[in-house]
Parts: sequence; C-alpha cells; structure tokens
Amino acid sequence: MLIVMKFGGTSVGSAERIAQAADLAIASAKKGHQVVTVTSAMSGVTNLLIEAATNAARGQWTTDVRQQLFGRHEKVADALIPDPARRTAALEEIDRRLDRFEKLCYGLSMVHELTPRLLDAISGTGEMLAAPLVSAAIGARGTASSAVDATELIVTTEQFGGAEPLMDATREKTAARLRPMLTAGAIPVVTGFIGATADGVLTTLGRGGSDYSASIVGAALDADEIWIWTDVDGVMTANPGDVPEARTLAEISYSEASELAYYGAKVLHYKTIIPAFRQRIPVRILNSFNPSHTGTRVSVEGDPSAPGVKAVTAIRGVSLITISGTGMQGIPGIVARAFDVVADEGANVLMISQASSENNICFVISTNEAPRVVKALRAALEIDLSRGHIEEITGQPVAVVAAVGDRMRGTPGIAATVFGALGAAGINVTAISQGSSERNISMVVAEGDAAPAVRALHQAFRLHLAPAAAVS
Ligand code: ASP
Ligand code: MG
Repeated sequence: MLIVMKFGGTSVGSAERIAQAADLAIASAKKGHQVVTVTSAMSGVTNLLIEAATNAARGQWTTDVRQQLFGRHEKVADALIPDPARRTAALEEIDRRLDRFEKLCYGLSMVHELTPRLLDAISGTGEMLAAPLVSAAIGARGTASSAVDATELIVTTEQFGGAEPLMDATREKTAARLRPMLTAGAIPVVTGFIGATADGVLTTLGRGGSDYSASIVGAALDADEIWIWTDVDGVMTANPGDVPEARTLAEISYSEASELAYYGAKVLHYKTIIPAFRQRIPVRILNSFNPSHTGTRVSVEGDPSAPGVKAVTAIRGVSLITISGTGMQGIPGIVARAFDVVADEGANVLMISQASSENNICFVISTNEAPRVVKALRAALEIDLSRGHIEEITGQPVAVVAAVGDRMRGTPGIAATVFGALGAAGINVTAISQGSSERNISMVVAEGDAAPAVRALHQAFRLHLAPAAAVS
C-alpha cells in the first residue's frame, strides 16, 4: 500500500514525540508499505511566528524569537541525530530558514505593513523547520529519508492565508518529485500547511491546514490510505470536554466527517475530506500517543448499521446576525443584497434561516467578523432601513449545536427527539436549520447553553452506548 501519514503539532512537539513519529513511519515501511509523511510545525511554533510577525509590523522586533526557535529545534537535533555531520547539516538548514524568517520580520519592522502574502511567508516557516528534523530522525534510525518543501509539490491559487490546490499541476509535480524516492524505498517528509503559486510564491492553506496537505498529497499520488496522526483516539460522539462519556467512532462516512469538521469537531481540518473523497481514499484518524488504538476510519460507507444521529458538536465564538422588519415581505432582493455584502466582507456563513413570514433573516458567522459585517450591512441596506422595510440589523454572540449523521436522512422522529430533549433541559432554541441533505440539524442557542445542549442530545440519542444499543 501507499500510505500518506501526517503528524500534527503535538505529535512532533518534542524530541521524544519526533522519535515516536519516526518509529511509526518506519514501522509501516517495514511492513512493506510505501510511506510519505507530512509534518506540521512543532506545537506552538506557528502561533509564535504569527505573533512575531504581528509585533514586527508594529515596529517591535527582537532577536529572541529566532533564538528561542533555534534552541527548541537544536534540542531535538541533539537528541535525535547522533551523527555529527548530519546533525550539523540539519542545523545549518534550520539556521538558513530562520535567517529568512528574521530578514522578513526585520523588513516588516521597517515598513509596518503585514500583507497576507508576507504573513504566509512567515507563518509557513514552522513546517520548514520541523521537516528536516523528522527526516533526520528517520535517517538516524536507518531508513533513507529526505525532507521536501511542499512549495515544490503543491501548486495553489493566490489566496494567501487560505490557498486552494490546483490539482492537475500538483499531481504532476508531486509524482515527479516523490515517486522516485518511494521507488528507492525512502520516506519523504513533506512540510504540511504550505504550497506555492505557479510563480513559486509561498502560500498557506489556512490554520490547521497540514491535514489538508496530507489529503492533497495522498490524492496526487493516488495513495491507498491517508493517516492523520493526532493526539486523540479519533472522531468522537461529542467533545469530551462537554460530555465526559463521549465515545470514539470506529467508522464514519466522508459526509459525516466533513459535517463534523465543519461544525466544530476539531479533529480534522474541514477541507481534508475533499481531495480524499474525490478519489475514495480512506482516511484514518489515529492517536500518536496511543498508537494501538484503531482510531476512526473515514470511508464512503461509514458505518451503515449505525443509527440516525452519530455525533453532536458545538461551535462557539460565532454570532447570529439578524435582519428584521415587517416591511421586508415581498420586497425582492434584500436577501441577495445582504449576502452580497457578507461575501464582499469575506465572511463564511455557517448557517442560514428565514421564516416563511419573511419578517426576519438570520445567519451565523464568526464573531471576529460580526462587527464588520453588521456595519457593512447597515451601510448597504441604509435605504431600506430609512424607509422602514428593515427595522434593525443586529449581531449577537451565540453557539451553534449540531446533530450529525448520515442515517438521519429519511429517519422520522429525529427532530422530535432533538427538540424534546432540548425542551426537557430547558434550553431555548433561537434558530434552526436542516440542510436538505438531512445529515445535520443545527440549532442556535445562547452561548452558555452550548454544553448543556450537547449533553442533552448525547443522552437522548444514547450516544455513550455502542451503536447496536443506541436508539435511532
Ligand atoms: N502549523 C499550522 C497551524 O498551526 C498547520 C497545522 O498544524 O496543521 O495552523
Ligand atoms: Mg496543528
């Protein structure tokens, strides 16, 4: 089999963790598989880089960050690369990359302007520091390995901060660069999170994007499986912080995985499933801290024997934007204009609901974007506001709770159980939405009601029990 395996930040967070990651990659190679690894930055490094860039843009640049980053990676090199020549080579590579980082920050501290393009160049450095170490650790354990910058593999659009892969070009480059290594029995270590435009300018795929990188590389190589090594046992029926008795799901479908990732389950970056799904490549989510656990397998079928609701999630840090007014009835175009504004502001809409009385349209976006969007809506709909077609446009912090499962589709009674459980728990629901895929019912509740709502639904669908015992 050809397996693309990704190690997340905590899975490469220290010398010990990198040693473990190297062992896991080598163990699969020893079983006769071809293995490509994709690595995140060491945990916390991306945040540190972004903070340094932001400070530099305010004119505050000190060399401590470089020293701190060098020190952290040097410690790993000292622990994992016994051969002095190889250790020096890895550290020189890291130093060169930090040099570039420092120059960029220094420049920023002079010009005081942090563009998305510059931010990508800086925030993508963490993966470029980690990959040479992971590769050297594999090499030091006796298996051939090379570090490869994904800028040489993944060709992307120019959307800095959230670039999308151009798959034809990516496929060609990835195959040309990685196939010969795999044929020679080596394990390439690819930097997650980054890519480059056709002109070679570094881009990032968005925060948490290394999962997406693994899926892109997997699709480009027609891999047999994509493994995401993280720090939990897999996708769970709920966040254990909300529901202590939450369970790991052994099998879920691509659509369930993407609904769950989109609706706040933090295990997978929400775009990860897209490239894998297109080619029907199974994705496994595994725990590098508990590698004997079988984790969660994501495939086309999922678990057909499982009942309606499979998992319950909550998204926090979101706001409900409401446009209301009795004069909106029958006035065409208000909805279209409103969503044009939202799109112009680049805000991502998580759910939408409009009652058929047309007195009220509401939708949910990230709270960070809410003040900007409300202001832009008030400006764009000024005439309707002054004429009284619209009475007010408000933004209010809320939480969205979602019940997700493929077999909710066509199973009657699910909505009754959902609202019965919330009613019994005394939780008020402000807005509701069910996509016509019927794989998801989402509800807007007060911020403080998120955890009790998740617990009430988890209990009502008996998700703490193994599937055969749960109710549909
Ligand atoms: N290092 C990047 C981040 O922290 C990408 C990732 O970890 O997936 O967002
Ligand atoms: Mg990460």
